Amino acid sequence: MKCRKCGERALISLRRHNAGFCKEHFNEFFVRQVEKAIKKYEMFDYSDKIMVCISGGKDSLVLWYLLHKMGFDTTGMYVNLGIGEYSEKSLEKVKAFSEKHGLKSIIVNLTQLGHPITLMEKRVKRTACAICGTTKRHYFNKVAHENNFDIVATGHNLDDEAARLLGNTMRWYPEYLGKMSPALSADSQIKKKVKPLIRLTELEVGAYAFMNGIYYIADECPKSVGATSMIYKNALNTLETEMPGTKHYFYSEFVKNVAHKFEREETEKKEMHICSICGIESFLEVCTFCKMLEKIK
Ligand code: SF4
Ligand SMILES: [Zn+2]
Ligand SMILES: [Zn+2]
Repeated sequence: MKCRKCGERALISLRRHNAGFCKEHFNEFFVRQVEKAIKKYEMFDYSDKIMVCISGGKDSLVLWYLLHKMGFDTTGMYVNLGIGEYSEKSLEKVKAFSEKHGLKSIIVNLTQLGHPITLMEKRVKRTACAICGTTKRHYFNKVAHENNFDIVATGHNLDDEAARLLGNTMRWYPEYLGKMSPALSADSQIKKKVKPLIRLTELEVGAYAFMNGIYYIADECPKSVGATSMIYKNALNTLETEMPGTKHYFYSEFVKNVAHKFEREETEKKEMHICSICGIESFLEVCTFCKMLEKIK
């Protein structure tokens, strides 16, 4: 296959775009998709202070790399989850990456704080992923609030969000369906949250990382085995193979035509409180994270 732009040998073929690209023109395509997402969903501009949530995986490192390259003011924020070797390896990748590119980062270490995920899952009656999600959200909100960031950016890609949409649709979770937009506006203490990789698939992000020498942790988190998100991703991959473009169509048309029907009006929104223990905004008097921590003590 030849590159759609220059006719040289293509290094990657994108069926959903019916096109192949050489390295130079794939990079150009990739950056254009990120720029389109930032513009279309009015995510941020050059005056914003952006906190990029980093896991050591390809998506978050590619996002950080690109936003920095595009000239945005970024700081990485990494939560070391305390999940054995997986967490040690991911920390190494984050450190090596930020040193190589001279980037600022903030690291929160759950083991040093006395509540690694492996301990929390023994004491709290929820799945490791549910505990992990609540914990990461807590620290993202706390660090963004305490350091006056304007924006919290995450590396979720099209596969992640289409799978999440499928899961929320299969179970008809109106609360979650109302929060599927790639740009969720700020809510006093809680900062605006954005997903600039939303127009790119997992495969495209992986190819970008490979072609640009971005070294990430390739191992999956051991807790992801059997996670329902993987089942939804596999189902969507089957559909995508038969009907290229399905994931993008499914997600983007939902955001364009349906999502607003699930969003709560200002008047319908639940009252927010300041958690009496951690001081971070929550729907509850004591937030879910602090309730979990009480079980550890
Ligand atoms: S797979 Fe689950 S436990 Fe592992 S990082 Fe993801 S959410 Fe956390
Ligand atoms: Zn080319
Ligand atoms: Zn709290």
